Amino acid sequence: MKKVTKTEFINFLKKQSETFDIIAPIKGDKGIDYDIITDFDKIIFDHVNTDRSFKRFLFPQSQTLFEFKEGVITEAKKQNKKKFIVGIRNCDINSLKVFDYNFIEKEPVDTFYKELRDNTILITAACPASNSTCFCTSFKIDPLSIGHGDIGILFDKEEDSFYIQGNSSAGKDIVDGLSTKDTSDFDQKKEKYKKNHEKNRDLIKDKNLVEIFQSKLEDEKWGEIFKGCIGCGVCTFYCPTCYCFDIEEQGKFWNGKRVRNWDSCMFPIYSKETTGHNPRPTQKERYRNRVLHKFYYQLKHNNEYGCVGCGRCITNCPTNIDIRNIIKTFI
Ligand code: SF4
Ligand code: SF4
Repeated sequence: MKKVTKTEFINFLKKQSETFDIIAPIKGDKGIDYDIITDFDKIIFDHVNTDRSFKRFLFPQSQTLFEFKEGVITEAKKQNKKKFIVGIRNCDINSLKVFDYNFIEKEPVDTFYKELRDNTILITAACPASNSTCFCTSFKIDPLSIGHGDIGILFDKEEDSFYIQGNSSAGKDIVDGLSTKDTSDFDQKKEKYKKNHEKNRDLIKDKNLVEIFQSKLEDEKWGEIFKGCIGCGVCTFYCPTCYCFDIEEQGKFWNGKRVRNWDSCMFPIYSKETTGHNPRPTQKERYRNRVLHKFYYQLKHNNEYGCVGCGRCITNCPTNIDIRNIIKTFI
């Protein structure tokens, strides 16, 4: 681990910008959000979490797969510059377990996701505090960890300094050249920030959700829980772990492109079959599927939660549906 001043850290990022597009949180129209950095003084390091997660940089909301013109197919253009994403919170970095499992670890490998994943350096950052909607500790995530991603950082606002640690071999190589101050006070600093996370509650407390939900699949409470959901899909688009997509052709049949776009299981057409039959005919089945996919199906099949407790679906739901209440209802 190393310790550098804020000026040294900014200079380090400027140096990396010769090789990478630097993506970091800045103040935007809707709050703090990631953007490609041109002015390094605008980066915000002491926020709790970004409006949106970083998933769109590895899994774009709309992505051209290939183009076709008069019978000739052309591969989609690849990105030119590698990315360096700074300030990823521990909840969000954990969402990659879901993406990697579905897009890389299982055949067939999603080459579009893999290419972006392989060309991106991920810098995680310890959270200075939890929001009232944060519940990452329910999933055994330590908001103050710097042990994830290629590099981990902890920003200490009081001293205007960064603790920085290379985790992957690529991350260690990048951090290697930095000089360092004494880091022996790291645990003390971490302890200082711990009190800012007291409201981050563990809602699951080691309970076996697979066992619990197995017997609740047809529970009558589902008939009440979904009420209020208007099927807007906002929760899924904001969710760092939601990875569903749809593929469509755009243009004329002799001249156009094939594009994949984010999709949402909250939309009625999502599960509608060509016969007109819909196995999830009402919002009740659609909402139940979303919850079970996060806390039952994925847990049962790959032993990972489909939720990292970021709280974005709670903050952004237009009808104030709070997924924590659903967990509390059943456990
Ligand atoms: S954001 Fe709220 S209203 Fe919209 S689909 Fe999700 S739960 Fe339903
Ligand atoms: S379900 Fe909600 S709290 Fe969980 S990861 Fe998705 S957006 Fe965050």
